[in-house]
Amino acid sequence: MISRDHPRYHSLIQREMITEAWRKGILADSGMIAHGRGEAFDYLLGERTTEPAARAIRAAAAALLLAKNPVISVNGNTAALVPGAVVELADAIGGKIEINLFHRTEKRVRLIEEVLLENGAREVLGTDELLYIDDIKSPRATASPDGIYSADVVLVPLEDGDRTEILRKSGKTVITIDLNPLSRTSRKASISITDNIVRAIPALIEAVRELEDLSRDELELIVEEFDNPENIRETLKLIDLRRYNPEL
Ligand code: ATP
Ligand code: MG
Repeated sequence: MISRDHPRYHSLIQREMITEAWRKGILADSGMIAHGRGEAFDYLLGERTTEPAARAIRAAAAALLLAKNPVISVNGNTAALVPGAVVELADAIGGKIEINLFHRTEKRVRLIEEVLLENGAREVLGTDELLYIDDIKSPRATASPDGIYSADVVLVPLEDGDRTEILRKSGKTVITIDLNPLSRTSRKASISITDNIVRAIPALIEAVRELEDLSRDELELIVEEFDNPENIRETLKLIDLRRYNPEL
């Protein structure tokens, strides 16, 4: 039992969720390593949604509301930490959910599908037939025909850099959630949310509810005004400033 007033309470709870998912086979070994890398960046950012992250979340919500076929990609870490929130976000944007795994095994796909269905998902894509995006014959380029393959906007938390690049090159708007502002994924995405998925997905749901009554013109303006490279620079500046004042 982790005591609620422990200063690292949230972080310890996430570790428990991650190791539990690993024990069940939902998460590959490398998923635990990825989580550790995320924790380090979360510490540097102060373990809260920073101002640049909040701006990226607002732009992402607008892009998701404008999308014709928005799809949320789910991997082991996402299924371990925020399965219910992912389903809620998909409902809020009228979007689809697709399982997409770096270390894909049939067993892990079934286990993640089960978790999502238990959390109220009506449909889970990426479980059977997959096509190659732009005919790139690589395991990094596979996608479900009705899902990411034909999507115009994709939300890919904790995505790999190569895959992000393939998705961008195929003309999709790529929104990523990745705590590392310097990762290839963050630098290649259209909108990079440098925040922990446990905070970013609920914040996205809230932003979607706030913006859903805006006109298309107003939503387009929010997306156009967002400058991703500049936003990443702001995040890095914040990490740097915290060395003088950790309370920032
Ligand atoms: P690149 O994009 O440069 O290829 P990578 O794919 O090799 O990087 P990984 O460690 O495989 O990097 O990917 C995991 C990424 O997910 C890391 O950048 C890490 O910071 C991030 N991450 C881990 N846990 C979380 C989390 N809970 N929320 C948000 N991001 C996270
Ligand atoms: Mg990588």
